[in-house]
Amino acid sequence: MREFEIAVVGSGYVGLVTGACLAYIGHRVTCVDKDERRVAELREGRMPIYEPGLEEMVGRGVSAGQLRFTTDLPGCVREAEVVFVAVDTPPGEDGSADLSNVAAVARSIGRALSEAGGRKRPLIVVNKSTVPVGSGDYVSMLIREGAEEAGNGSVDFRVVSNPEFLREGSAVYDSLFPDRIVLGAESRDALDTMRELYEPIIEQSFPAEMDPRPKAAVPFVTTDLASAEMIKYAANAFLATKISFINEIANICELVGADVSSVAYGIGLDGRIGPRFLSAGIGWGGSCFPKDVAALRSIAREYDYEPALLDAAVCVNERQRKQVISKLQRDLHTLKGKRIALLGLTFKPNTDDLREAPSLEIAHTLSSLGARVVGYDPVAAKEAARRQPGLKAAFDPYEALRGAHAAVVVTEWEEIRSLDAARAASLMEEPRLLVDGRNALDPERCRKGGLLYRGFGRA
Ligand code: NAD
Repeated sequence: MREFEIAVVGSGYVGLVTGACLAYIGHRVTCVDKDERRVAELREGRMPIYEPGLEEMVGRGVSAGQLRFTTDLPGCVREAEVVFVAVDTPPGEDGSADLSNVAAVARSIGRALSEAGGRKRPLIVVNKSTVPVGSGDYVSMLIREGAEEAGNGSVDFRVVSNPEFLREGSAVYDSLFPDRIVLGAESRDALDTMRELYEPIIEQSFPAEMDPRPKAAVPFVTTDLASAEMIKYAANAFLATKISFINEIANICELVGADVSSVAYGIGLDGRIGPRFLSAGIGWGGSCFPKDVAALRSIAREYDYEPALLDAAVCVNERQRKQVISKLQRDLHTLKGKRIALLGLTFKPNTDDLREAPSLEIAHTLSSLGARVVGYDPVAAKEAARRQPGLKAAFDPYEALRGAHAAVVVTEWEEIRSLDAARAASLMEEPRLLVDGRNALDPERCRKGGLLYRGFGRA
């Protein structure tokens, strides 16, 4: 295996995990960020995000001399053979992806390339951020513009698209054992170089204590730039739609007296459907699905196409969050003066990410309806309370439940799944309502413990 000199720009959920994993498989990696505090913390071994296994992976890379951190993008571009761009692309006002961070990095790369002069090989610029179709060409244009501004527009580089599919909460595992690696480029040489860079992962030839290894070789999908960019949006839109689909079925189940868990199990055994992403509840959130579905809808509209199915997936998802409120109102009647505990606040377990977390919207609605809202989360309670003034942080689930008339399971952390129903009921006030927003708890066990259990789509 050849050791590459790599720069990863953006040291967040994607960039930091990618950098640490590329160092782990034997490359020399410099993680770059414009946030000086974040870089200083990383140099001191402190992680800016919560992600299982990441701290150990970063520590290992730093000790081995394979991983370092800097704010100096131009310095890295001069030394690197491959630069990954993993900066955030947040949603703009109209739902389209805001590319200003990507654009700033592209221009800086152009300027740095221009100032560095001739290179032995073309710089490969790998776009890992989720960006609209056509962004590869846009990035090329900006690199060239940056180079021209710096006085030498004839710079040698190739842009490739390498969308990221890692899941927060298992990001390290997903990076080392991905279902596939997708690469889009117009240059055959660039694709070959990227294949060489990823070889230890494709061939699963690195030593890993994280076995069992799921598969022998990882599919390496090569395509054109536009298709690679589209694969990312299509994957997230499909997954979001699958959740909205089962939520639609759950709502009909409630009406007809069927149990969506049995229905999901029954349909999921069909190989064409598959069992995953069939959990009914309060719907999808997080930093990716809402933003990427919005961006894909916005792309479609740019071409005067009405994405009816995607619109419906969003509509169903918005309705699910409102259902939490309706379920509380059904049993509590007025919410004024009621104390409601939110159990789990992050958008999913094993992450500290609160971007587009349903908990924040639910807390806002409940407090505007006059309820007192207390939230517990193993890693993000304090930050959630800072972002949502109507939410009071509790640092233990039972502390949140003390005196509560109702509780809502928002995030199915293991600790919440294994909640002691009798203890919870003994601390709560009548009617001791538990709205299970993730269908994560056993209804029978909850009822036996003294809770009034309400799930989603459960008979
Ligand atoms: P993030 O917000 O966690 O991290 C982005 C980092 O980029 C921040 O540290 C920020 O300071 C840095 N940054 C921004 N502009 C910069 C610049 N000009 N120079 C240097 N650093 C800069 O974001 P993320 O969640 O890692 O997402 C990054 C991209 O990957 C997004 O496009 C996202 O859609 C995509 N993605 C995210 C996930 C996920 O689960 N988070 C999964 C797949 C794809």
